[in-house]
Amino acid sequence: MANQYLFTDEQKDLQLMVRDFVNKEIIPHAAEWDVKGEFPQDTFRKACDMGLHLMGIPEEFGGMGLDQTTSCILREELGRGDAGFAVSLGANMLGYTPLSIAGTKEQIKHFADIVVPGAVSAFCLTEAQGGSDAGNSKTTAVKVGDEYVINGVKTFITNGGIASVYTVFAMTDKEKGVKGMSAFLVERDRPGVSVGAEENKMGIRASNTTEVVFEDVHVPADHLIGKEGDGFKIAMKTLDRTRPSGSATAVGICQRAIDECVKYAKERVVFGKPIAKHQAVAFMLADMEIQTQAARQMVMHAARLMDNGIYDSVVAAAAKTFTGDTAMKVTTDAVQVLGGFGYSREYPVEKLMRDAKIYQIFEGTNQIQRVVISGNLLR
Ligand SMILES: Cc1cc2nc3c(=O)[nH]c(=O)nc-3n(C[C@H](O)[C@H](O)[C@H](O)COP(=O)(O)OP(=O)(O)OC[C@H]3O[C@@H](n4cnc5c(N)ncnc54)[C@H](O)[C@@H]3O)c2cc1C
Repeated sequence: MANQYLFTDEQKDLQLMVRDFVNKEIIPHAAEWDVKGEFPQDTFRKACDMGLHLMGIPEEFGGMGLDQTTSCILREELGRGDAGFAVSLGANMLGYTPLSIAGTKEQIKHFADIVVPGAVSAFCLTEAQGGSDAGNSKTTAVKVGDEYVINGVKTFITNGGIASVYTVFAMTDKEKGVKGMSAFLVERDRPGVSVGAEENKMGIRASNTTEVVFEDVHVPADHLIGKEGDGFKIAMKTLDRTRPSGSATAVGICQRAIDECVKYAKERVVFGKPIAKHQAVAFMLADMEIQTQAARQMVMHAARLMDNGIYDSVVAAAAKTFTGDTAMKVTTDAVQVLGGFGYSREYPVEKLMRDAKIYQIFEGTNQIQRVVISGNLLR
């Protein structure tokens, strides 16, 4: 379990509260959500009652007002239960963070008034022509009087089909390249906003991932977040700031894999003794624990820096990359520890392996993180 030695009493209480919720309301249903590939609205409402969709939103706007470190502790617990569910809750913070970076008080209040009662938001950056090249956007926002008119299609949007409000990145001046990108707040119920195809995913299947279509969507000029041309900077800063808490969910996947393997290795008898007594298996468990501890510490370090006002892209990218790669390795080993049963859907570890894979892909692939890190080293 997460290293509690340095947690405050409040963090320990919140962790136990979420752990209890995960054990009772998430773990017993996660396999069914995985098969159905549906976002569990009933459980989401229960999570909303606890405020878990509002972790980083300031208390003055009705949120939990949690710092990054505490959010990471809770996101790990949620990831231990079901990464898809955790990703959907977390994507609410992805939708909110552009406002915390560049939004006005009025914009934050407007956003909070929509989500606080029990709704989610979505962060709409990626388009079909390549998520890694995020500045290559075809979505446009044209100023007409005191409004912007938005046209374009966003792909792979977490919460795309269930969000009540979107932060949308669109070109206000194509000639300027990434410096011509701007960010907007767009409510779901505006005419011209529609939800496209839903992805049938290999993992995190309880999360909703869809296209979102904007067709002549009019938004008031005061829905522009920051200044015209700031959009790409806001998007990159957002991802820098959300990578640690997103990665905490992957640490939760690792922890769940360890828990399942320890239980199984003590019970499964082969060659006359529990497989845990075969050193090759015991050492796999030890390596899973070492790698998970390392990933957790990188995530917590990045979170603590942010809580002290230090936003370091390389630290965030390194934590994200290491955690994603670790989650893939630990869950692959978990399948190995369970042998044939690891490969069977009767046991939860193959799901963990499918869920873990996304952490090498979204919020910037691990190749793109290495571009960021090496670029910094070589600058
Ligand atoms: C389940 C899921 C949820 C998502 N949620 C969201 C969301 O909420 N909001 C949002 O905006 N986006 C979201 N995304 C999109 C995600 O961020 C992109 O999928 C990701 O950035 C990669 O983009 P791509 O899929 O277009 O891959 P591509 O950009 O086409 O990349 C394909 C491959 O080429 C590699 N590659 C590309 N360029 C380089 C390079 N310069 N150097 C080295 N390797 C390179 C990549 O690493 C990758 O392996 C989500 C995606 C998924 C699958």
